[in-house]
Amino acid sequence: MDLRFSEQDEDFRKELRSWLDANLPSEMREAAFWADKSDDESFEIRREWEANKAKDGFAGIVWPEEYGGRGGTPTMKAIYDEEMAKANAPSTVNPLGLAFLGPTVMALGTDYQKREIIKPLLHNEVIWCQGFSEPGAGSDLAALQMKAEPQGEDYLINGQKIWTTNAMHGDKIFTLARTSSPEGGKKHAGISMLLVDMHQPGIEARPLKQMTGASEFGEVFYTDALCKQTDILGGEGNGWATAMLLLSFERGSSAIGQYTEFRKMWEEVTNVAAQVERDGRPATEDPVLRQELAAALIELECLKYHSWHVLTQTSNGKDLGFEASMTKIMWSETFRRVSDAHEKVVGTAFQVPELGQGLSIEELTTMAMWSRSCTIWGGSQQVQRTVVAERVLGLPR
Ligand SMILES: Cc1cc2nc3c(=O)[nH]c(=O)nc-3n(C[C@H](O)[C@H](O)[C@H](O)COP(=O)(O)OP(=O)(O)OC[C@H]3O[C@@H](n4cnc5c(N)ncnc54)[C@H](O)[C@@H]3O)c2cc1C
Repeated sequence: MDLRFSEQDEDFRKELRSWLDANLPSEMREAAFWADKSDDESFEIRREWEANKAKDGFAGIVWPEEYGGRGGTPTMKAIYDEEMAKANAPSTVNPLGLAFLGPTVMALGTDYQKREIIKPLLHNEVIWCQGFSEPGAGSDLAALQMKAEPQGEDYLINGQKIWTTNAMHGDKIFTLARTSSPEGGKKHAGISMLLVDMHQPGIEARPLKQMTGASEFGEVFYTDALCKQTDILGGEGNGWATAMLLLSFERGSSAIGQYTEFRKMWEEVTNVAAQVERDGRPATEDPVLRQELAAALIELECLKYHSWHVLTQTSNGKDLGFEASMTKIMWSETFRRVSDAHEKVVGTAFQVPELGQGLSIEELTTMAMWSRSCTIWGGSQQVQRTVVAERVLGLPR
């Protein structure tokens, strides 16, 4: 494991820090700034802030310069994630486009798609959604039923997607549909990845309310929706292979940004524990809660060293392949652990904030609620464990 940063890395860190100092107002770093904003208002503020950041060259850190990226190294991306988390910077509004679509278009897209998709995505001119999951197809994605039938130069699309992040703010969606019947009953066959405009009469997005009260995701209904037959990514009938390549692009990124964010959360949970009483003394003196907090801290530090290990490997050009599932399991479960500690520290105030006796715990509680989703999206923890067992450890199926 290499723990040193190069001079070029440190220069990048300084440059990013001074950009954040000049462009991220202190009020935007505070939860209170966002608390009284509606979903739509905060989305628009984040959209604009992020677009200005991209204009100044702090986006697409590892993307090639020819696509408007920075042409940086995996270490620079890790520094970027760490500094953004330290500064409490707003999270991206285009996560699916940035993590998945951009790299897939660079690899498989036509020249037209590269030109039309990558730069507008990087500058938040187009917000992309991912339309994979359906009511009957989640972990078993190949069970998807949405149909796209040729009609003139278009496809006519009918079906439903669910859990679509940014459904209410999306401009376009990369989605999987059946363009032909599966040959020989093979359910992975006959699927294509379509690039569909969400601003058309055949598409209706409906919000789904999460337990935090926000509606970051929704359902998307397609009723005779249209998409040009040329708006296919990776070729007709190749949707499964395209989707697998697309999902693999999250691999290889270290979890240093997540570590930084959850470590800050742990510090705050510990501060709250010092103010909450358990049996007439501060909760930090309760032996069971102390163990809970210590266990969370140990997992956090393991996550940190795992992240450095991953970063060293990718910096040396190693493709982590399925080993990357270990990183997803580690960061999502560590997040859950810190969140569980918060839940135990605040007790009933988790669900009834008024019982928090003046403590400001809303932000921590919202994070703790959000942590529950992180072991589901992007492949549930059970499915990731099967991947590690079969593909990394070579255990029998
Ligand atoms: C916050 C959030 C955002 C999301 N955003 C998007 C999005 O933008 N686009 C999109 O397409 N989808 C999105 N999803 C959906 C997500 O990809 C699915 O929820 C996920 O794939 C699991 O599918 P499912 O919910 O249908 O659960 P199921 O697949 O029905 O699983 C239910 C339970 O059974 C377990 N299970 C299933 N199969 C197996 C197996 N073979 N072995 C062991 N255990 C198994 C699972 O681990 C889980 O615990 C999002 C989900 C969340 C929570």
